[in-house]
Amino acid sequence: MDHVASLQCTLCDRTYDADAFRYVCPEHDGYAGVLEVRYDYDVVRERFEADLEAAGGGLDGVVPDQWRYRAFLPVAEDATSVTLGEGGTPLLAAPRLSEALGVTTLVKDDSRNPTGVLKDRASSVSMTKALHLGRETVTCASTGNAAASLAGYAARAGLDCRIFVPAAAPAGKLAQPLVYGADVLAVEGSYEEATALSLEATEAYGWYNRNAAINPYQVEGKRTVGLEVAEQAAAAGVSPDWFVFSVGDGCTIAGGWKGVREFRDLGYADDAPRMLGVQAEGASLVHDVFHGEEDPVAVAERLAEAGGSADTLADSIAVGQPANLVKAVRALRESGGDAVLVSDEAILEAEALLGRTEGVYAEPAAAAPVAGVRVARERGIIGPDETVVVCVTGSGLKDTKAAGRAAGEPISIPPDLDAVAERYGASA
Ligand SMILES: *Cc1c(COP(=O)(O)O)cnc(C)c1O
Ligand SMILES: [Zn+2]
Repeated sequence: MDHVASLQCTLCDRTYDADAFRYVCPEHDGYAGVLEVRYDYDVVRERFEADLEAAGGGLDGVVPDQWRYRAFLPVAEDATSVTLGEGGTPLLAAPRLSEALGVTTLVKDDSRNPTGVLKDRASSVSMTKALHLGRETVTCASTGNAAASLAGYAARAGLDCRIFVPAAAPAGKLAQPLVYGADVLAVEGSYEEATALSLEATEAYGWYNRNAAINPYQVEGKRTVGLEVAEQAAAAGVSPDWFVFSVGDGCTIAGGWKGVREFRDLGYADDAPRMLGVQAEGASLVHDVFHGEEDPVAVAERLAEAGGSADTLADSIAVGQPANLVKAVRALRESGGDAVLVSDEAILEAEALLGRTEGVYAEPAAAAPVAGVRVARERGIIGPDETVVVCVTGSGLKDTKAAGRAAGEPISIPPDLDAVAERYGASA
């Protein structure tokens, strides 16, 4: 991996050789010392441009899948990619949603990934690494989606998969990894407790851990969403002012920012958007730290012991101790961005609005960015003449119970045309 320069600790800046793979910086308690992958961009650029040329096109915005950006991914040149065709999702114009929100809005529809979530970008990269490293068993802890995603890609790679989920995860999210053949361990406790257990098991059994929170390579896969949006927008002649994500552990928004920043820094895009982070009112730590006085590094060091609580129906962002707190807050600050909170009620409204106006079916956490844009418009954070990209991170098919709450119940009628007439009037 001569394009990977080093792994750098997000807390103390110490750097480590990428080939001596470790999950976190050993200088801190627990798993607080999350590492950041640093690249040699001369090598990245040279390889990326050679790949584009070999593919017979330039930066035309036509993205078949995320492996278009292989030169940016921290995998060995001779590693066989484990892929189900993740990425390459559309950046949709959304005229009716734009009208409802009072600002030009585009939808990056990542619900179309193979297992229904943006996380597939990361799972593809980490299973490529696990396979290349000769690992046989992979694990993660998850609020649901990471588990299903990992299980799908482990099946694709022919690896054994053992996942830890909080017992309260939506039933639909537990069925999917089971179908993919994983052992699903439903932990009677919180997401944080499930995470702690998966980390203990990783050490005890030597499994490969995909947790985005601690595996520095996970977030690298997620950043292809940023590379893609930057390329697709530039090819369409659009320069987005804002790029909006919901925030759980904070890996996704950090990855999205890294991708758009890289495209700008390499000169492939004129500018990079500001990041808007959206959290639920009941799981607000990234927002609170971004707006607060305390150094995020100090908060992250303290979090390892202090813990945190989360209360929201948007289970994918129900994270009380965001493991990528520092990366997420840095993404917001570096980009000149902002953070807002939304209520569960507003999230459900946004889910219905997105479906009704644009035919995009999002789970609650994936609809939260739409609710966030509304709040940011009301507060004047986003101006009326700006252009916004909302990232829809996961499919509504994952959580049909929440969808029922968002959009109501079917109308029950007898098998009789009179009953139809009662609702729509006499037929023509
Ligand atoms: C995981 C997930 C998120 C949050 O991503 P983080 O990297 O944990 O911040 C948002 N939406 C969906 C659908 C997810 O699955
Ligand atoms: Zn460190």
